[in-house]
Amino acid sequence: MRNVDYPEALLFDCDGVLVDTEAEGHRIAFNEAFARKGLDHTWGLEQYGVLLETGGGKERMDAYFKTCPDVEPYKSLTDEASRKAFLKEMHELKTDIFNELIESGKLPVRPGVSRLINEAIEAGVKVAVCSTSNERAVSNIVKVLLGDAIAEKMRVFAGDCVPKKKPSPDIYNLAAETLGVSPARCVVIEDSKIGLAAGKAAGMRVVVTESYYTGGEDFAEADVVFKEIGDNFGIDDLTTPGSFWLNPPPGRTTQEEGVRGLGGGV
Ligand SMILES: [Mg+2]
Repeated sequence: MRNVDYPEALLFDCDGVLVDTEAEGHRIAFNEAFARKGLDHTWGLEQYGVLLETGGGKERMDAYFKTCPDVEPYKSLTDEASRKAFLKEMHELKTDIFNELIESGKLPVRPGVSRLINEAIEAGVKVAVCSTSNERAVSNIVKVLLGDAIAEKMRVFAGDCVPKKKPSPDIYNLAAETLGVSPARCVVIEDSKIGLAAGKAAGMRVVVTESYYTGGEDFAEADVVFKEIGDNFGIDDLTTPGSFWLNPPPGRTTQEEGVRGLGGGV
């Protein structure tokens, strides 16, 4: 018999939650795009962490190339219009390369993700992905990396289906409306401060699982924070209100004791 206290829906962010896409996907794809265009630029792991402060791929490349205007491509591209056209083309190439990477199945799904999704499906909890990243990439991650059985049950809300990206709650509001569930009965899994803010603004509970580049962000607003899903929690832990929220189990991150259970303090 179904436990009525299960959440009505479990909503996953994509990048950093299903797969650590920034470190081992997007960064690699940017570098490959530079190489294919004969550009002598390679973004390292640490360097990319700084570049991520600029949101959006085109904007990120623009900010970076502006730091080295005396070398190609900006050495030759001096006016805004030609730079804009170049960035658009580069971004399309990078997106294609990123999708090739996903389709190759080489990116690893983060620990515990498939298990938790399967538990939710078995418990009758709706599952969806809510990401304001490129729709094709998100759908591919679900289909190729999570497999057909999950993809059939997992609704994807992605790309430009809402006008405002996270931290706007729009994508989570859209998901709750479309799935016909109450926001208060949704649990969101996010890896970043921006995603956390989006889930919270939609009135949902948010579990943070930190990713390579988001570890150390301020997650004080989260209901609970972990390094990963791993073996740290299952669908039975996400009941409402449930002791999980009041006394988060061991395994959560020790981030400056900033981890809080709902109403339970530290
Ligand atoms: Mg994310």
